[in-house]
Amino acid sequence: MQTYSYPESQALFQRASRVMPCGIYGHFSPAPLIPPEHYPFFTAKAKGARFFDIDGNEFIDYMCGYGPMVTGYNNPEVDAAALDQLKRGNCTTSAAPVMVELAEYLVDLIPAADWAFFAKNGGDITNYATMIARDATGRSKIVMFKGGYHGVAAWMQAPGHHGVMDQDHENILRVDWNDFAGLEAVVDRHGDDVAGLIATPYHVPTFADSEMPAEGFWNNVESLCRKHGIVLIIDDIRHGFRLDMGGSCEYFGFKPDLICFCKALANGYPISALVGSAALKDVTARVFYTGSYWFSAVPMAAALANLKRMKAMDAPRIMLETGDKLLTAMVDIAKTYGFDLKVTGAPSMPYLRITNDPSLMLHQQWCAECTRRGAYFTSHHNWFVSTAHTDDDIRRTLDIVDDAFKAVKKIFGDRF
Ligand code: PMP
Repeated sequence: MQTYSYPESQALFQRASRVMPCGIYGHFSPAPLIPPEHYPFFTAKAKGARFFDIDGNEFIDYMCGYGPMVTGYNNPEVDAAALDQLKRGNCTTSAAPVMVELAEYLVDLIPAADWAFFAKNGGDITNYATMIARDATGRSKIVMFKGGYHGVAAWMQAPGHHGVMDQDHENILRVDWNDFAGLEAVVDRHGDDVAGLIATPYHVPTFADSEMPAEGFWNNVESLCRKHGIVLIIDDIRHGFRLDMGGSCEYFGFKPDLICFCKALANGYPISALVGSAALKDVTARVFYTGSYWFSAVPMAAALANLKRMKAMDAPRIMLETGDKLLTAMVDIAKTYGFDLKVTGAPSMPYLRITNDPSLMLHQQWCAECTRRGAYFTSHHNWFVSTAHTDDDIRRTLDIVDDAFKAVKKIFGDRF
């Protein structure tokens, strides 16, 4: 099977490095792509579940822009709605009616939602949710789970990160995922001063297996929050609409006070949403929060079209089934080469790891070998499935997976 090379990507990265800190920053940085010479850094064009890099190589994409692509790149229905709104106005001095239509649609779609508020990024909304929790309770502390990611504000970043001060974490209490007894103990100690608890619907740390909630975990957490008057905030930025159209809390059977959505909302158009309970509507109204582009109407029109499309096709079911088909076959192929490919998380956003080598070197090499054959996999982060991944994409991916296992067998011989 042919393998790719990336002279144009690498040359452009050199140019980028001269004028941009670390060349490409944040989660698109090549740093965790190992070995980096097997990965493209720049995209020329994209369609459906595939993209072409600037060297002309074609990839079936299992990162989906790290989540925003959900119904296919350049989805004609979503783009048409966005274009139609663009022709009428985008960042206008008073809001466009589509903002109200989108809020109404979310309130109808999501059982836990009595109102909706829009911003741009996920971190805008997770931060706002904690401000609302503090104002509602008059308390200061926020409980979160170790290894959880909620954005880049200083309080959300892990202690010790550059630019983050100890004071930024003064009001943050970190507990272990699924450790309900540990959470209870922290709440017992600080209960009178705990404003909110923020968590993803299931745990998705980087460089580590995803972890589903233990049996009864969410119901226990919900009861604990109710008992102590703690605002329960679900960060559904990554999982949202890939498990259930009503929010991931519907999938797991509990009711939060606030839910944060972003990535899959508008198929790549920049928008995030906070939805919440009637009890928090007046508090939210008085907590000031806004941004230059938060009333931008084009992403709102895109979100409305995208959500309607997803609802009509039952997108979470499609993604869960597609992921399941792909992953079951991949695990079987791995077995024929003597490799144990461990899959955690939901099939619509799985995290994979070859357990034969705990150092992850073998796994990193295999992901890179798949990528340079045309199936874009990362080794440190969960993947994403979209409704645009076709049976043809799956078949082609499985051929690539097979050839990549052959390649790593050659590289690592009998070491694993
Ligand atoms: N929460 C979770 C669970 C996320 O995955 C992310 C983004 N990766 C965020 C919050 C932050 O979103 P954003 O990068 O749009 O601010």
